[in-house]
Amino acid sequence: MKKKTQTIYLRKIYFLLFALPVFLFACSKDNAKPDVKAEDNTEKLVSYLETQGFKKDKIVLKGDQFILDGDVLISKEEVEKRVANDANPNRIPSGEHWRGLYLISNTYNTNVRLYIDPAVPAAWRTAIQGAVNNWNAVNGTRLGMSIITSASGVYTRVFMGFESANWIARAYLPTSNGRPGVSVEINSNYNSLPASQKLFAITHELGHTIGFYHTNQTQGVFISGTPSVDANSVMNSFVLNWAGFTSGDVRATQIIYPQ
Ligand SMILES: [Zn+2]
Repeated sequence: MKKKTQTIYLRKIYFLLFALPVFLFACSKDNAKPDVKAEDNTEKLVSYLETQGFKKDKIVLKGDQFILDGDVLISKEEVEKRVANDANPNRIPSGEHWRGLYLISNTYNTNVRLYIDPAVPAAWRTAIQGAVNNWNAVNGTRLGMSIITSASGVYTRVFMGFESANWIARAYLPTSNGRPGVSVEINSNYNSLPASQKLFAITHELGHTIGFYHTNQTQGVFISGTPSVDANSVMNSFVLNWAGFTSGDVRATQIIYPQ
């Protein structure tokens, strides 16, 4: 989830922030002994993500996780599992509502549990509770969510991070074994965001944790039966003021998590 009013200056900073660790890595690598390098499968994993419709310039490897389109997270290990699972990935129709290859299994999707880290400020907690209420209010779907007060069992952790960059929050997709995305990270750089946009942003990120991609991009699996234009969809990649789900958002949710 990003701010819409990003400047070119911000874009440059954003690029440099991600580019810098690559350069640092490249420098330290030159000094390392050449015979102790582990096999690097990054290129293969990036190729796989491209087959899922992600553009190469929107795929960033940071530590052991990939960041896709700025706010969609997936661990390197998870991509490795998907490469192994998806013997025959095909591509790609065009349209608007998109989902990932993996959804939350019926074991977990009626009660997706969220745990909020104690450091999350009250204004963001309000947004998280509001976002849970939003998803719970969608009719005609088996999807349900709740906030838990102690971290045990399967849950999605919501926590604060900081980066001087133009992402407001980012989230993991469901795992290949049917569990909800493991975390939502909120950028404290945007603590002053209006409440309505906080609510939109968290509702959007929870959308990623249950398997939605961006409606204004064309990666993943098109959800057949959803509208071809949906400019106010919560799954657009830029933040808006919360004004409720669109009928397309509701339809897409009913389709992927039918009653
Ligand atoms: Zn997003």
